[in-house]
Amino acid sequence: MSVSSPRRERSRFIRKRISKHAVTIDTSKAKSNTDVVRMCVKDLGLVEYTHGRKDAHCDIYWNEHHFDDNPAATSGKVNKFPEMEHICSKMTLFRCLDIMRDLYPSDFDFYPRTWYLPAQFEEFSSEVQNMKTKRKKLKSTFIIKPYGGSSGEGIFLLNEPKDYLSSYPSKRGMCHVAQEYMANVYLIDDFKFDFRIYVVLKSMEPLEFYICKEGLARFSTVPYQSPTKKNMHETFMHLTNYSLNKRSKDFSHSEEDDEGSKRTLSSVMKRIEMNGQDSAKVWQDIELVVCRTIVAIVPELKVAWNKAFPPGKHGPSCFQVLGFDILLLSDLKPILLEINGSPSLYMDSEQEVSPGVMKYVRNPKDEEVKFPLIRDTILLVMSPHKRKHCERKRRKRMMHLQKLKSSHESLLARPSSEVTTCIQAYDDKEDIEELKEEEEQEEEDHMNQQLSEFHLDEEYNMDEAKIENPHSDNDQELKDEIHLEHPDPEDLEAHHLEDSCLKQLYPDLYQEECDQFRILERAARVYINCIGVKKSPGMSSSAFRTFIRKCQLNKKGLTNAAVDIMYIDLQRRWDNMNPEASNICLSFQAFLDACFEISKICFSAPTKIEMLEGLLSICFVSLSIYQKLFNETFSFDFYIVFKMFFTSQPNVLHFFLLLTLSDNMVPW
Ligand code: ADP
Repeated sequence: MSVSSPRRERSRFIRKRISKHAVTIDTSKAKSNTDVVRMCVKDLGLVEYTHGRKDAHCDIYWNEHHFDDNPAATSGKVNKFPEMEHICSKMTLFRCLDIMRDLYPSDFDFYPRTWYLPAQFEEFSSEVQNMKTKRKKLKSTFIIKPYGGSSGEGIFLLNEPKDYLSSYPSKRGMCHVAQEYMANVYLIDDFKFDFRIYVVLKSMEPLEFYICKEGLARFSTVPYQSPTKKNMHETFMHLTNYSLNKRSKDFSHSEEDDEGSKRTLSSVMKRIEMNGQDSAKVWQDIELVVCRTIVAIVPELKVAWNKAFPPGKHGPSCFQVLGFDILLLSDLKPILLEINGSPSLYMDSEQEVSPGVMKYVRNPKDEEVKFPLIRDTILLVMSPHKRKHCERKRRKRMMHLQKLKSSHESLLARPSSEVTTCIQAYDDKEDIEELKEEEEQEEEDHMNQQLSEFHLDEEYNMDEAKIENPHSDNDQELKDEIHLEHPDPEDLEAHHLEDSCLKQLYPDLYQEECDQFRILERAARVYINCIGVKKSPGMSSSAFRTFIRKCQLNKKGLTNAAVDIMYIDLQRRWDNMNPEASNICLSFQAFLDACFEISKICFSAPTKIEMLEGLLSICFVSLSIYQKLFNETFSFDFYIVFKMFFTSQPNVLHFFLLLTLSDNMVPW
């Protein structure tokens, strides 16, 4: 039987402990994201829990699809927001954008005109008819997509709205969005393509989001022609989805930058520049599309957040990597096609390595984009002191690797498993040293604590010395040391972003641009306030009546009967709009419809925005008064109870009352 040496025992003991600086990540629900996340774990020196952590919480929880995939994530940071997948679905996303387009037509013209079928079939037909009457030779094409579809599934093109009806029986019960087909697209080498732009929503409150400077371009595999009756069914010509086109015999896996059916965004931008066009302007327009789209979905996200975490319930914080699909028109105007809440993070693609033999092969273009994206996202969401520690460790490891490379020139030629073992050994050594350092630091802290207690008696003498020499050199040194140990977190942020692939869009670059459109977040606050604290799927009829009463809208001529009729009407309209969902209560979008109707009835103003602003201002004032009255009633009850207790001690009562009232002064 082998007896382990005390040294080995100690190192095993140290291994079991996790450094307090270490960033822990739970990848038990990462599934298809595991590969790329694991690469980042290795690169950043994170501590990974592949089966979840039992003894404590993790700093980060990485889920493949949904916020609630991992029930253990009750604190820390989760890489998904509640209900984001629903908000990114075609219907909800385009409805959010439609509401904004209705308010700001010229600023929200970056996505195709959209109809919701079958509910809006009549509107669809009559609008198309009108368009044709105005422009006799108009050759219109429409693209039909299932509400919840993805990867190009179930998509088809048609020329006439009536063709939808003839194809509908086979799709009975399904809901679709119909969109104007953008036929006039920018081509490269005669092929249609779209961009996958990555956006990181770091936090919702306060709003902060970033764009990844690199992305992907996905090409169709049959040269493009404007849609005709003959070519309308050619999926590989009109759809650019990678998941579809990889099945085409013409799919090119070329690893050259400027070739292949999948390319990097930067290579396409270079091509645009080579064609004598302004790629910087294209990029700026894309940034604006991203900003406006995020602003359009934030109110929905806030409502969803409140559903998951009503006041008083605490949970983790969230961040999310989103994939924006953007098409370029021939004049280089970007058009938003969809947002993907769980963009593919695969780095491998299935390729025919020899005739008839398929194999999963690492795709260097995917790796070039997705690895830095996820690495820098993880760095972005770490607490500043852990990030600093992580970066320092990473730099040291890189230096070590560099040394290894120069001392063994043949290192790169050696099998990658050998290189990994070398780095792993170095990492283990580093971890053990770090824990040793931590232990020593703890011991030192303990001694310092004892010493400071010992010196407490002598403090008086030291203070006297300080008065004699208030700016001693030692003091300055101490300050420098403190500054080095605890640098300003903002400095760290700035330093960190210098070499990050992520660029902050909000608030850094586009705060003013975005803030002018953030009116619907105020409507979301009213909605959240009126649906109450309970976990409700939406606004019930009684909550709707409460909203009217609390906001004093009945004083503006809305009778109880009119309010009830409006509620039933909205509910029916939304049931019709989305029969796939259960519409027992008013969703936030249905509530917004109500707000527009009410503002039209109660506030006359030249524009929709002004009417809505009028309504929201009244709501805010009324709700503040209501809240204050409620709180004062509450304080009054307390006053009675406490008066009974403290009649003999009026000063205590007075003090308590002051405290309660000062709390109530917080604005709603
Ligand atoms: P999915 O989520 O199923 O991938 P998309 O909306 O992304 O659906 O559409 C799939 C593909 O169809 C896009 O990648 C794009 O090439 C093409 N496409 C979608 N909408 C339009 C449109 N309005 N005009 C032109 N092409 C479109």
